[in-house]
Formats: sequence, C-alpha cells, structure tokens
Amino acid sequence: MKKITIAIDGFSSCGKSTMAKDLAKEIGYVYIDTGAMYRAVTLYALRKGLITSEGIDFDKLREEMDSIMITFVLDPESGRPQTYLNGECVEKEIRTMDVSSHVSPVAAQSFVRTAMVDLQRIMGEAKGVVMDGRDIGTVVFPDAELKIFVTASDEIRAKRRYDELTAKGEACDFQEIKHNIQERDRIDTTRKISPLRQADDAIVLDNSQMTIDQQKQWLLEAYQKAAAE
Ligand code: C5P
Repeated sequence: MKKITIAIDGFSSCGKSTMAKDLAKEIGYVYIDTGAMYRAVTLYALRKGLITSEGIDFDKLREEMDSIMITFVLDPESGRPQTYLNGECVEKEIRTMDVSSHVSPVAAQSFVRTAMVDLQRIMGEAKGVVMDGRDIGTVVFPDAELKIFVTASDEIRAKRRYDELTAKGEACDFQEIKHNIQERDRIDTTRKISPLRQADDAIVLDNSQMTIDQQKQWLLEAYQKAAAE
C-alpha cells in the first residue's frame, strides 16, 4: 500500500490524539501531535513570565520564538512520542489546566502559527504520518489523502477529560473543564488565521456514542480505503 498523509482535525478533547496515536502505532506511521507544539510554546511563555493576569506579552514572545526548540522523542516503553521543549521532556507539564487555559490565544497569533506550520510540514514531508490538530487538513497538508474531522458533544468531551485527569490523580473540576473546552472551541473556530473548520473533503466522525474499539475499527477501514486508492 502507498504511504499517505493522514490529517485528523476537530474540536478539543474529542479523543483525536488517542485515535491518531493508536492508528499510527498499528500501521507503522509517525504520529505528530500538533496541539502539543502549541502547548509547548505556551509553557515556554508561562515559564518566562510572559503570561500574567495583565495579559500576554506577544511582542516579547515574538522576539523569543527562535529560542523555542520543539522536538518529539519516542518513549521506548510506551512506544509513544514525548514532547521536548529545548531538550527537556515536558509531556506532563504541557497538559496542565494552566497551559490549557492559555494555549488558544497563543495559538491564534500568526507568528506562532507560521513557526509551527513550517515545522509540521518538515516533520510530515516524507508522508507516512498521522498528524492531529485543528488546521492540518485545511492549511498544513491540504493535499492529505485522508482527512478526518472529529466531533462529539461538549458534555461527553468534558466527561472524558475529567475521567482522564482524575485517573492520573489530578484534582479537577468538571465545570471548569467544560468551560475550558467551550472557550477553546470558541477561540479556535473564530480566530482570523487558520480557524478550526472542517475541510470540504474531510470525513466526519462523531464519536459521541462510539467505544474506543469501534472508533479504531472505523479509522482503520478509512485508512485502508484511502491507502488503496
Ligand atoms: O490538541 P490540543 O487540545 O492539545 O491543542 C491545544 C490547543 O492548541 C487548541 O485548543 C488550539 O488552540 C491549538 N491548536 C491549534 N492548531 C493545531 C493544534 C492545536 O491552534 N493544529
């Protein structure tokens, strides 16, 4: 079968990364979590004190973009890629509520998007990639052979995120999580540059009522069909 590019876009917390990771592992593709890249930039800005209650210092962040190195390294134990920021593994740190609540305004900046999209295109140029995000099928790889647009109800997405954080032993509040999801959706769909939207040639997957196994099967079939064409 030919090597293809698989773009998985959709709303926050609808299980895109789990399905993308599992598919990549199953078919021997490279998985690239583009949300992790925007999260790493946000973590950098938080650590540098560029995000305060007064707002975000975008001028300073723009000046510092060249000092932000983002890479992925495969964890031999889990077989899953881990996000590194300037040589430090930040996989856990980028998933906190603090990062989640600031990432969307950071990701809406054109200088941030240009830097990340350039990197994503280099990472995916050899094909054989599953990339998940918000603008992969519309902007990063508009010629991707397979585009999936994932959605699920807010309530279900918040519940999944709540369960995930609780299972990791993190204290969290259901309403805060739901609000964060809705707010990120709002910023992501209404921003001027590369807003989240379904590509015209994307296949929609509403996984509200699907089990992980059903979703896996659905995705595998979609891949087999696209790679055989
Ligand atoms: O996928 P994840 O929820 O980790 O993404 C975090 C945030 O990064 C999103 O809410 C969105 O604001 C931004 N993002 C983006 N473009 C992408 C991937 C993520 O703007 N391709």
